[in-house]
Amino acid sequence: EHPMLDYKEKTKSSERFMEEAQQVMPGGVTANIKYFDPHPVVMKHGKGAKLTDVDDNEYIDYLMSYGSLVTGHGHERVKKAVMDQMEQDGTWLFGTPHYLEVEMGKRLKQHFPSMERLRYTNSGTEATLLSLRLAAAHTGKHKIAKFEGHYHGGYDQMLISVNPNVESAGDADTPKSLPESKGMHPAHVRNTIALPFNNLEACKQILTEHKDEVGAVMIEPVQAGFIPAELSFMKGLRAITEQLGIVLIFDEVKTGYRMGLGGAQALYGVKPDLTTLGKAIGGGYPVGVVGGKEEIMMHSAASQGSDVFDSSTSKRSSAKDVLFHSGTYNGHPMILAAGMAVLDILEKDLGAALKRTEALKNGINETLRKYGVKGEALGIGTIFSVILNNDGKVRNYRDLQQTDLATRKEIDFRLLNKGIYIKPMSRYSVSTAHTDEDINKTITAYDDVLREVYG
Ligand code: PLP
Repeated sequence: EHPMLDYKEKTKSSERFMEEAQQVMPGGVTANIKYFDPHPVVMKHGKGAKLTDVDDNEYIDYLMSYGSLVTGHGHERVKKAVMDQMEQDGTWLFGTPHYLEVEMGKRLKQHFPSMERLRYTNSGTEATLLSLRLAAAHTGKHKIAKFEGHYHGGYDQMLISVNPNVESAGDADTPKSLPESKGMHPAHVRNTIALPFNNLEACKQILTEHKDEVGAVMIEPVQAGFIPAELSFMKGLRAITEQLGIVLIFDEVKTGYRMGLGGAQALYGVKPDLTTLGKAIGGGYPVGVVGGKEEIMMHSAASQGSDVFDSSTSKRSSAKDVLFHSGTYNGHPMILAAGMAVLDILEKDLGAALKRTEALKNGINETLRKYGVKGEALGIGTIFSVILNNDGKVRNYRDLQQTDLATRKEIDFRLLNKGIYIKPMSRYSVSTAHTDEDINKTITAYDDVLREVYG
């Protein structure tokens, strides 16, 4: 049997659905990441760790909507919190300050002590975007530096060298900045500098050379949620950015709550100047957070220039004194109610989810060894990826390109056919809803698939 033929046979309704969807949306999707060849699986129901597709196939879900569903699908406590909040408030949106903004914020500050003040946004993208403006306002320097292979959102400034063609990307120590999208302003190739991950000496050189223009370095402390920064690298990066007057931003949109409730910064014991959060914070509802040092965050304090858009005053020069940050839905009560419930659940159950992730990784690693396959389940916290044929450690984007991606893709389709769901080539995210039985079933499916491929 051929895994792709089996897949097509099992997902005929998904295929028909996508034909119709193409008539509505370019490519049939409303986020490019949802697409894969020959057609994505279209889901119609989710509960706990399970998904059901439009052909009634059942899956154990490990995509968990790219990590955001940290308490699984349809958690009753989260659902109740949202409904109760609506019942209590009467409305679902005030357009004024609301007590949950403060209550949720106090809890976030406890778990992330580096966030002395914080602001809410509606997505991780908006959070990283705001953090860049804060850094530029604080330093007066407008260039930014980011790491090759790191993703921070889909806008021009940061769509640089996320998934570059290694052939065009130049030397590993001095990667070229390459655009990821049609239509981007060419200036961003100059204004966003690419850095090599886990290579401290090269980063020091590049940052020192550009220290008068670079206001911010943004990093995923664990690249794509599974390639960890080495501790010495993190500490070195903290020291050099401090020395050069560059704001260090930890983008913990993916790692927040997933490496532990305090994110990667708690695990590493390294304190960034700014932190961005998203995904798991809302447990599947759209949210973002930017927090950090008071002196940086206070650039957005409204009292310094709240008359910016008040047409009744002619003192528009005050606009210069405040950093603009707004958003109709920022701090949405329904979403923060969900966020509070997610925190309640995680404060109790995250430990068990972390243990189950370890059990799953160990099971996959044992199965790889059983069939003599060089490879590993790589990651920390509740996210990991499966790497094949790695000669030595995968420490960055370029190492990952050297691994056996073709076989990984084949394995992913074979797993889909056996009811283990991720988008092919994506990462695994474990939730508090995954049970020991789910983990064992997954390890058994891995055993079957590796026997088919390598046995
Ligand atoms: N930053 C990181 C590390 C992410 O993984 C993502 C999303 O995948 C983002 C930012 C963007 O977040 P969002 O998709 O909520 O805009």
